[in-house]
Amino acid sequence: MITIQDLNDCAAPAFADILRGIYEHSPWIAERAAARRPFASLAALKLALQEVVASATQAERLALLRAHPELAGKAAIAGELTLESRGEQAASQLERCSPQEYAQLHTLNVQYGERFGFPFILAVKGPTGRGLTRQSIIDTFTRRLRNQPLDELAEALRQVHRIAEMRLNALLGREPALGATVMDWAEELSLISDSDAGLTCAYMTPAHQQTAARLARWMEHAGMVVHIDAVGNVVGRYAAAHAGAPTFATGSHYDTVRNGGKYDGRLGILLPIALVAALHARGERLPYALEVIGFAEEEGVRFRSTFLGSSAIAGSFDDALLDALDDDGIALRAALAAAGHDVDAIPAIARAPGTLLGFIEVHIEQGPVLLERGLALGVVSAIAGSSRYVLELTGVASHAGTTPMGMRRDAAAAAAEIVLLVESRCSGHGSLVGTVGQLEVPGGSVNVIPGSCRLSLDIRAALDAVRLAAVDDILAGIKAICSRRGIDYKPWKLLDADAAPCAPRLMDGLGAAIERAGLARFDLPSGAGHDAMRMAQIADVAMLFVRCGNGGISHNPLETMTADDADIAGQVLLDFLRNCYIPQGPTPPGRHE
Ligand SMILES: [Zn+2]
Repeated sequence: MITIQDLNDCAAPAFADILRGIYEHSPWIAERAAARRPFASLAALKLALQEVVASATQAERLALLRAHPELAGKAAIAGELTLESRGEQAASQLERCSPQEYAQLHTLNVQYGERFGFPFILAVKGPTGRGLTRQSIIDTFTRRLRNQPLDELAEALRQVHRIAEMRLNALLGREPALGATVMDWAEELSLISDSDAGLTCAYMTPAHQQTAARLARWMEHAGMVVHIDAVGNVVGRYAAAHAGAPTFATGSHYDTVRNGGKYDGRLGILLPIALVAALHARGERLPYALEVIGFAEEEGVRFRSTFLGSSAIAGSFDDALLDALDDDGIALRAALAAAGHDVDAIPAIARAPGTLLGFIEVHIEQGPVLLERGLALGVVSAIAGSSRYVLELTGVASHAGTTPMGMRRDAAAAAAEIVLLVESRCSGHGSLVGTVGQLEVPGGSVNVIPGSCRLSLDIRAALDAVRLAAVDDILAGIKAICSRRGIDYKPWKLLDADAAPCAPRLMDGLGAAIERAGLARFDLPSGAGHDAMRMAQIADVAMLFVRCGNGGISHNPLETMTADDADIAGQVLLDFLRNCYIPQGPTPPGRHE
């Protein structure tokens, strides 16, 4: 079996020769990467090969794409595939297509080639490496045919790198076993759902309770002492090497949005369970007790109240929420009682500030930044604060045919100007983002000038001062737009939440672990809220983001990641946990204070 050491030590032509089959008919990639040796790890080698492609000419990249065979295309039928491609296409049983599937793939191949000018490329061994089904290949093909050409070019190159990644694994005899376990567990949990179609796991439904029970069972098997607390958090504790040692915590949420993704939240529970199982199997203990927490509720789907699980642990649970009703008129209090929980025990869940050594949350990025940079992992610098408003604009509804343009007071036209104001004010200021996600003309008609318009504002930034300055400017701009147009407006503030910065000490610990894995540290803010925000009220927090596939889509069944990324995240998290806290030993001899 070939090792990284062999690849570092051999002559450049031998290096290029060994890696000949990694990128389809494109030996120049390995030839150029040879000069970048030595590689600290397999991850570093993969990254170097990707960088060679990124710094090649556009013509070279297109040639790389065009060197790939069509899926179940002419070359496959004629038996002219490379050894690697043949094995991969066989893993998805593409050679066993029905005549109908062949016809479908043939049509897709033709349409795709005409639209993009290169063949459709998909890592058919999929996110786990075990092969996609023919149906999911056809679905992906159909979906990607609708992509914009530049986006599809980038996606095709990412698929080429994913294929190369799996070929390298095979060449070096590496299997992302821990990552594959995590992917399998996520798949298994995704089958426990409130609905028959897709994954929905809303707070305290039967599926939610069953998910908690499954997590508890896995935690026990991994060697943890487990309890489910009064709000449904599943808490597993892996004892420290020595009694009386402090506690470090990690975790994320196990509830989901309606028809959500399999990894949002769950990755941050399953990955540490898999790590603890590995530690337990070799009898290794950490210098502190490690708690893995599956937070019961973060998404706010059923009772419109987010962070129920982590706010209970942070001691900021709002008792008034117990009277919140779901769509069927069931109170949160009653839902908890029906599931066998004692609401009077909720205050006792709270941890006193400073009792935890720290908290780290692993989460998929839920955005495209890491994906577009070709990075598996990122260190979160801060969880963005957010301001939310609803605006009601009132103009004059009048006849669309008889009111001259200069005599109108059009509420929707004012709203349109506001949308563009938000876009321009929030562009180009780092982490600042602004969105008008709701925009409606209540009771509007095709032949009536809009007399009223409702719209929402959502402004976020990692720095509170940046966000608040943008909010002030936008509110002033709205005032000016409305007075110029003769529109009355009323703003309602819905939310004003401060940003939660991550602890620099823990960020540096994560960054160092990423670098030790042979990857580059990259810091980014989180635009989405996470349980770590609540935990920041009582402890130092950090977050590790993991790359999201499919353009970074989340809160959607298309949300995806790979076993390799889960695996490297596990390696980095374990390295971080081993090094983030060095207990104070006895005072060294000769030093007495
Ligand atoms: Zn989440």
